[in-house]
Amino acid sequence: MLTRRSFCAAGVAALAVPARAQVVATLGGGPQTLTVLSDGGFEMPATMLAQGVAPDAVAALVKQPTPYRTVLNVTCLRRGDETILFDCGAGPNFLAGSGKLADSLAAAGIAPDTVTHVVFTHLHPDHFWGALDDFDSPIFPQARWLVAEPEIAFWTDSGVYERLPEDRHAFAAGAQRIAKELGDRLERLKPGAEWLPGIEAIATPGHTPGHTSFAVQAGGEQVVVLGDALTHPEISFRHPDWRPATDHDADLAVATRRRLLERLGADKATIVGYHLPGGVGRVAQDGAGYRFERA
Ligand SMILES: [Zn+2]
Repeated sequence: MLTRRSFCAAGVAALAVPARAQVVATLGGGPQTLTVLSDGGFEMPATMLAQGVAPDAVAALVKQPTPYRTVLNVTCLRRGDETILFDCGAGPNFLAGSGKLADSLAAAGIAPDTVTHVVFTHLHPDHFWGALDDFDSPIFPQARWLVAEPEIAFWTDSGVYERLPEDRHAFAAGAQRIAKELGDRLERLKPGAEWLPGIEAIATPGHTPGHTSFAVQAGGEQVVVLGDALTHPEISFRHPDWRPATDHDADLAVATRRRLLERLGADKATIVGYHLPGGVGRVAQDGAGYRFERA
């Protein structure tokens, strides 16, 4: 279908063996439990992880046969009577192998009508297209939907197509369709503020214009839900200056990664990455650079 075709032309593909729904990780317990839920995964050429870098240098770090297989991790924070999701997966219309969130929620014992908030890091398909069910109704009927003002402004602007390469036009068409269906339910908030009590929105632009990460409390510690600010467990940490093809503003994304690594390395905060294997870990200092220390 249209929404898949142009992205697939870039070599991004459904998994040959679809990923299973699963609970990837659990942090804390008691009053604040953070659960990482799989939305499945998809494959992409490893060269998309670092444009302009010699394929051998990329392959040495990726340590996987090409194509590179990435995972999709949706973070769920349960505290008191709130169930807060950070992003909502790819839904049924992106790539086979993704769109497993509903099954993973069931595996975790979380009913869709108990989800109170969906907080978006950004509006790329693998994070946003899971918002609607087969009838184009919001998949979480009771939820508030929160997104950064610059992010929704970018994707719904009539001039967005001129600012995107052609293989990304389907991203805008999908985002516009879903934003229209959500209508006023999609609340537009400013980055750099507390969006919900104890949930700080950190502006992390570059991957998309309004990309946002979130600092939250879970299990007695600070956890930073990164979204796609750091996407690869080796490349994003060891070479924050390497440029993934999926970053909208490559220079800004590099600056954001450097700033985040410095802050997270110093804070020793727990991080959750949407595309990081296992989801949860820390930024560890390693010589002059950093590495991902998986939990
Ligand atoms: Zn993503």
